[in-house]
Amino acid sequence: MSKIPALICGAGPVGLTMAAQLLRQGIGFRIVDKNSRRSIHSKALVVWARSLEVLNTAVPAQDFIDAGIPVRKAEYWFQQERLAEIDFSGAESPFGTGVMIPQDETERVLEESLARHEIHVERQTELKQFEQNATGVRCQLAKADGTMEELDVSWLIGCDGAHSVVRHQLELPFHGELDRHRWYLADVHIRGEMPDANVVICGHPDGIMICFQIRGNRWRIIAEVDLTDPDQPVEEVKLSQVQEMMNQRGPSGFELADPIWLSEFRINERKVDRYGVGRAFLVGDAAHIHSPAGGQGMNTGMQDACNLAWKLALVEKGVAGQPLLESYTQERSVIGEQVLKAAGRLTDVATLRNSLAISLRNIALKTATSFHWIQKRARDTLSELRINYASSPLCGAHILHGAVRPGFRVPDLHWQTNDGQTESLFAEMKDPSLLLLTWQMGPEFTESLFEALPARWRDDVRIVSLLQTDDDDFDADGIMPASEWKRLGSEVPGYALLRPDGYLALSAKANEPHALQEWCAKLS
Ligand SMILES: Cc1cc2nc3c(=O)[nH]c(=O)nc-3n(C[C@H](O)[C@H](O)[C@H](O)COP(=O)(O)OP(=O)(O)OC[C@H]3O[C@@H](n4cnc5c(N)ncnc54)[C@H](O)[C@@H]3O)c2cc1C
Repeated sequence: MSKIPALICGAGPVGLTMAAQLLRQGIGFRIVDKNSRRSIHSKALVVWARSLEVLNTAVPAQDFIDAGIPVRKAEYWFQQERLAEIDFSGAESPFGTGVMIPQDETERVLEESLARHEIHVERQTELKQFEQNATGVRCQLAKADGTMEELDVSWLIGCDGAHSVVRHQLELPFHGELDRHRWYLADVHIRGEMPDANVVICGHPDGIMICFQIRGNRWRIIAEVDLTDPDQPVEEVKLSQVQEMMNQRGPSGFELADPIWLSEFRINERKVDRYGVGRAFLVGDAAHIHSPAGGQGMNTGMQDACNLAWKLALVEKGVAGQPLLESYTQERSVIGEQVLKAAGRLTDVATLRNSLAISLRNIALKTATSFHWIQKRARDTLSELRINYASSPLCGAHILHGAVRPGFRVPDLHWQTNDGQTESLFAEMKDPSLLLLTWQMGPEFTESLFEALPARWRDDVRIVSLLQTDDDDFDADGIMPASEWKRLGSEVPGYALLRPDGYLALSAKANEPHALQEWCAKLS
């Protein structure tokens, strides 16, 4: 029997995303999880715009949108007075700023999407240990019936969460620390008309409390309690304790009822330096954990998966080599670092106790949120549309000097197909290959571009050639006005190579096919 290319260990949101992306890439895999069922907890409450965009290449973003509510607005209250408002609407993405959706629903959408392709998670199947050599990984799986299975794969992908067995066996240090703050968490129903916002942040001298709308009158409340010894066991939380905090810190007159989940948590901030060794990789919480401030944890993990999947596919098919795989750590570790720092800073600001510092925070928030550009920056940062790999070794030539540089997200461009339909780039990106968009290039240039592609890359790069206007002399795939092309590069005829995860690899003028050749050569 031939070897299965990949084993995905862990079917949380990140493992399921990895599965959807490998399926899109046509790479065979198995996905196992030690638990007997999906998590029932709401944990991560938002899927941000950039995650929706990259997920949409494999699972319709609309499925997540239909199962949640749009991210609209946050309000900041202090001692029962409303001080500031952040408007989240208007992000430059076809999917808005993001969608509020509990994590168990996110996992359901992902798992159902896989099931439509007859892919099922093998539950009660636990990776116990593995060993790897230059050609593969031998995994020991413990099954529900008590038997062990030995499985040989080419790649092991550890999506096995914060206590990752893959990370432990790779002996990768998980640098960081446990924060001493205790937090109450309540997933409850609230009786009464809450402020008209998805997120209500309530500052108070005794500690901050934040309410996130899940759907209708179901809300997640988290409230800072006090400092504690990290070794003190986690306590059981009672609804009455959270109600007391609501009365003291929140807008007045609200009754909490019908709790779905009551818990206490503490914040761990940790990250590995390397996201993989040899043929084994770490993705999601297995590689980084941090404060939930900003709601980036799960989203960062999902985008790790989207970054790794196409690279693994090209290497598995023998198209690209080790340099492409190494870029996974190079690109995602930088992002992980940024997320950890930003979440830590947000938590520090949220947990201020000194009254002068709290007053300054309140003034700063009130002033900052009155500026439109600050609101826009906050929205674009949270929605992860600003994520880029500008320092990545994968960034190729940048000859067009356009708004989007190599390593940056490509916006959703539109063009008209020859049969008069409007085509969107994001719809086109569902195809798993790299996309070579050419604009205003004559057939001789397009041909020399194709010839510049090394033979083994040709099946994995598709060319869409576009013209500014209909021209009987040229055979093209559609028409794109200069204004649209300008969003990507300049008005100069040329081409752009787009990665399967929606980032620009390179852009060049029509008569510069060597830029493409050099990019492919660098990754072989
Ligand atoms: C209380 C709480 C609130 C949170 N709030 C937010 C938020 O607001 N926003 C946000 O973005 N994130 C939030 N998070 C974090 C978010 O839940 C995680 O980032 C996310 O779950 C990570 O997904 P994952 O798939 O990497 O790991 P996990 O969800 O932990 O999934 C790992 C899976 O691997 C399986 N597994 C583990 N070991 C093995 C093994 N040896 N063999 C087989 N299977 C194995 C586990 O059973 C599990 O199903 C929160 C987390 C908690 C606990």
